[in-house]
This record gives sequence, C-alpha cells and structure tokens, in this order.
Amino acid sequence: MSIETRLKFPIDEVPKYGIFHQINKQIHWIRMPLPMSLNHVNLWTVGDKDNLTLIDTGMQLDDTMKLWKALIKKEKLSIKNVIATHMHPDHIGLAGWFVKKYNSNFSMSRTDYLQCRILSADTGNDVPNDAIEFYIQAGMTKDQIHAFTKRFGFFGSIVHPLPRSYNRLKDGDVIDINGADWLVIDGQGHTMEHLSFFSEELNVFISGDQLLPTISSHVGTFPTEPEANPVEDWIASCHKLSKILPEAVLVLPGHGRPFIGAHKRLKALIDHHETSLEKLHNILKTPKRAVDVFDVLFKREIDDSNIIMATGESLGHLNCLYYRGMIKKSLDQNNQCWYEQS
Ligand SMILES: [Zn+2]
Ligand SMILES: [Zn+2]
Repeated sequence: MSIETRLKFPIDEVPKYGIFHQINKQIHWIRMPLPMSLNHVNLWTVGDKDNLTLIDTGMQLDDTMKLWKALIKKEKLSIKNVIATHMHPDHIGLAGWFVKKYNSNFSMSRTDYLQCRILSADTGNDVPNDAIEFYIQAGMTKDQIHAFTKRFGFFGSIVHPLPRSYNRLKDGDVIDINGADWLVIDGQGHTMEHLSFFSEELNVFISGDQLLPTISSHVGTFPTEPEANPVEDWIASCHKLSKILPEAVLVLPGHGRPFIGAHKRLKALIDHHETSLEKLHNILKTPKRAVDVFDVLFKREIDDSNIIMATGESLGHLNCLYYRGMIKKSLDQNNQCWYEQS
C-alpha cells in the first residue's frame, strides 16, 4: 500500500483557485495557481475576515494578483498580517505586494528573509563564475550550462520586492493569532530556515513545504554554498517534527490536500532519503559525477527544464554520503568532480 493511501484526507472538497474555503472557525484555505507541473500552492488564513493573518501568498503572477484582488473585494477581507513559511516564490512571491498595497505587517525567519533579498538582487546581474564552475564540476554540458545562464535571475521576476524591514520569527516562538497560541518550528534542508506553525489548541499544523502528503520536497545543494549538507539537515528536521507533532494533527500543507498521519508521512520521508542514499552508495563502486546518478534518485526524465533541481538534489545526497564518511571525491583535469566509495 502506498503511503498516500495510509494517510487520511478528511476534507473532501478542494477549493478552486481564489476561493475562500473554510476549514474551521479560525482557518480558511485559499488555493492559487502556479505555471508549472506542480500547478497550485495552498495558502492559509487564520482569524476573522476583518483581522486576518495570511500564511503564504502565492507567486507574483498577474493571474494570482487578479484572483487576490477579486477575493479581497468579494469577501471583504482585511489582511493585517502576512507570514511567509519560506523564501520560495510560490510562497513569498506577493508578500511585498501585500505590505505595499494593503499595509500588512510582515513576518518570517531571518535567514530566509536575507536569502530572498540576496537572490532577488541577482536579477539583471551577470552569472557569477562560481556558479558556472559549480555546474562544470557537477558534470553539466556546455549547452546545459548555457540554458542555466539564460534563466539566471528569473527568481526576482516572480517575487515582488520584499519590504526593507520585517518582523523576525524564530524556532520556539509562540505567537498569538486571534486568541490561539501557535508554536513556531524551524526546519532545514528545503530552505535554510523554513518555518511551520503548530497550534495544539486547534490541533492544526500549517506546514509550508516542510511536510507534504504526496511529493518529497526539493532538498538540494546550490552554488552559493557548495559544501552544504541539506539532506542531513532535512532528515534531522523530520525527526524533530516527529517528536513535536501528534500523529492525529491536521496537517495543512503548501501543496496537495490537508491530511492526518504526520508521523507516518515523516517516517516515509526519512525512509525515502535513506533508501536513496543507500542506492546511491551502491552505484558508487565505480566513480561517478553528480550528473551520472539521476537514474537512482529520480523516476522522471531529466531535461533542461529540471536539470538544475536534479543536479542540486544529487549533490545534496552526495554531500551527505561524503560527510558520513562513506565516499570520497576528486577533481579530474577537466575540473569535473568524481565520487566513489571510500
Ligand atoms: Zn519551497
Ligand atoms: Zn512550495
């Protein structure tokens, strides 16, 4: 039986884009479109219509802004606070827009705030040599690297400029939203300081991309920090969440449907990465580059549209094996990095 069938999905109806869909007295679900194969993102409001806290905003897209304007008008919503779970465009894209247009307060984690400002600032700049070097070492071809350089700086086009100041939220904070306490929990591996929100009182966990029901969140290494070990961080974060969350909590995820079965899902995610690490280790009896291991890690076809993600995930898993002392790496005369069992 797949993990999906062992989770419970207690809410039958999935709202259309831009609809204010009630979960309980405190919480509403708003779904917004995304222009990719993962075609939607879930956003959550907590509180009453005249005093709402919005968790995640959607990407900066004309369609999403139109849907937001119509929804705010139709339902007479007043969004007083905006919180971003993390710095990815599908979640944070319109945070700056809300602050500017609706004068909302804005909160998120410090590391993701700074990282988002840095990535947005890349738009319009040249591709750094470090990044090209990083992908040469991973084994990408000239054409693949060219495709990457053409897309460089895209991030800033789908994220509205962030406000120049923000309220910092951090692990262990307890925030009061509309009379209920919410524990702030940080997670690492998907981004550097991803925040999720757990209300014991309401028995609800707003998980962002830290805990998704059917897809495994992207966990990868990027040129800004080539030696990062996000897979180990991610596994540790899954263990941490297992200790904090009750199994029966209703999980409201950034993608997919609300579900019950947090422990089952966290265990499946840990097992998924440990199995990938084991398979990866097995094929490294002979030396391989990051681009040579896609078959082990991905079921889907890897092409120019997803090679950066795939290379990042491969390097993330290779770094994890390296730090566990299970493989060694060396650069050849073409500046490509080869990994092999130690
Ligand atoms: Zn994300
Ligand atoms: Zn996401």
